[in-house]
Amino acid sequence: MPLLQIQEPKPAKSRAIGIDLGTTHSLVALHHESEIKVLLDEFNEALLPSVVRYLPEKIEVGHAAKNAFTTDPQNTFMSIKRLIGKSQSQFHTVAGKVDAVQISAEILQALLKRARQLDENIHEAVITVPAYFDDAQRQATKAAAKLAGVKVLRLLNEPTAAALAYGLDKGTQGTCLVYDLGGGTFDVSLLQLSQGVFEVLATAGDTELGGDDIDDLIVNWVLERLPTSAVNKADLRLLARKAKEDLSIYPSTVIEFQGWQGELTLTAFNQLIHPLIERTLNICQRVLKDAAIAKEAIEHVVLVGGMTRALYLRQQVEAFFGQAPLTDLDPDKVVAIGAAIQASILSGDPTFKNALLLDVIPLSLGIEMMGGMAEKILMRNTPIPAQASQSFTTYQDNQTGLSLHVLQGERELAKDCQSLAHFELSGFPAMPAGKARIEVTFRIDCDGLLNVSAIEKLSGIESTIDIKATADLNDESIHHSIEDAIENAKYDLLARKLSEKLLEAEQLHQSIEKVLIQEGHLLTKDRQALVNAKLMLSKAMQSQVLNNITQAIKQVDVLVQEFATKHLNEVLAKTLVGKAIVDVEADFS
Ligand code: ADP
Ligand code: MG
Repeated sequence: MPLLQIQEPKPAKSRAIGIDLGTTHSLVALHHESEIKVLLDEFNEALLPSVVRYLPEKIEVGHAAKNAFTTDPQNTFMSIKRLIGKSQSQFHTVAGKVDAVQISAEILQALLKRARQLDENIHEAVITVPAYFDDAQRQATKAAAKLAGVKVLRLLNEPTAAALAYGLDKGTQGTCLVYDLGGGTFDVSLLQLSQGVFEVLATAGDTELGGDDIDDLIVNWVLERLPTSAVNKADLRLLARKAKEDLSIYPSTVIEFQGWQGELTLTAFNQLIHPLIERTLNICQRVLKDAAIAKEAIEHVVLVGGMTRALYLRQQVEAFFGQAPLTDLDPDKVVAIGAAIQASILSGDPTFKNALLLDVIPLSLGIEMMGGMAEKILMRNTPIPAQASQSFTTYQDNQTGLSLHVLQGERELAKDCQSLAHFELSGFPAMPAGKARIEVTFRIDCDGLLNVSAIEKLSGIESTIDIKATADLNDESIHHSIEDAIENAKYDLLARKLSEKLLEAEQLHQSIEKVLIQEGHLLTKDRQALVNAKLMLSKAMQSQVLNNITQAIKQVDVLVQEFATKHLNEVLAKTLVGKAIVDVEADFS
């Protein structure tokens, strides 16, 4: 008789979706009947324009909102992703005040609605963000998800999602480059796979370079040929965009506008866009240099973003890398597909093996030290999640607290880095300078959110902060930051040296002062020598000239050494005398 198999009843597993929350378009995908499906709207369109319009009685998202943009700009919002986490501005609409988080939440809600038509039990999502998004931008994206009523399983970097969509995690190791040219932005990321784990090695890009710029080129091309300059620019832009998209399929297109008609050939179009493609390839060059990786070492090039449909662009990319890029998947869907795969993995779907995905910190993180120097604790391009600690001590006697200044950036001086937050560690017992042991720990979780904590080890007093600062960080500013650091390396080194020497001089100055106060019995001559030394240090510090300060420290050091030797002898002599007396007394007792 066959044995009955008894299975434990399993709770119905809830499904999670993948969302590509894009600047121009947003999409939602999920794992359904053993494949990843990108969900369509009632017109069979996958791409939801990331446009939201507020009306007194309802909110429109997508095509309807986009169509109203020219007629109702006051209540209609496009490209809100550019503002999320960067601006707390509120916009006045007929439906009241709204901010970037609320507007983004509307887009998420529209996508959720689409997904819930398939499975109303959906409450979790993986949402993609650009690799360069900082804490504030990631926090704001999470806040939008919360507002939309969906739990974020993870924020996933867009390039990592694209690599996942192509199954590049199935390989054992190798480096791939993700080239993403969307509506308004260009992003390039280098990913390294080792043992099924992705790391973002480096990112670069241009936040003001995308399909919209190509539309503008076509608009200008038409304007140069039009007999009149009195035109409705918005209408012309729509035509330009259509012409551009046509040229991904046809060798030429005819543009008809206000009674005028002109033929734009593919050859002419390619010439128009050539400089823009050059710019993207220069950025690719830069990211390779940044990561010190040769073109030849790249195993795969992945194309992402609607603009990479243009054939000429594909050819140029191929010529540059010396290999055909991966283009099998729809370039505007790959990110959503990857997000859905990751969502499946995280919600425990057995179809996908459990890949751990790593991303990277775009800019170094650290704290400000005495003297205004920036001490880096987590270095740029460290894979996340990450944690690092460093020990510090107090600078002044009887210090019972200290103020920590959290920084982001590559420069040597705090003032040249970006300030993320200030927080206090206070209430530890007074002790001499240098005695306290303060351990500062930086933690970044897998969503790239930062937590900084400081603990005074002897007393156990602790303080911690989650960074929610509105850091104005985008791809451009990351590059700025890095280039800045390289350009200013020499100056920075000098500035750092100056800072260190100033601190040394200041400490010497303080210790002399202490001696002057404590040792009241000093001979006038000794006292005068110390006062002079103090003066010499003050003058040198005031001059802010590195050489002067170094010289002054040297001279004063000699003086202090002499003084210490002499003083020590005196103390020693005193102690010896005392001892002799005690000994004698002892003998007599
Ligand atoms: P984002 O990630 O910024 O939301 P997308 O990846 O959706 O952007 O890319 C949008 C851009 O791709 C737009 O400029 C659009 O005109 C362009 N695009 C879409 N389809 C095509 C096509 N067939 N040929 C050329 N460009 C296209
Ligand atoms: Mg995109």
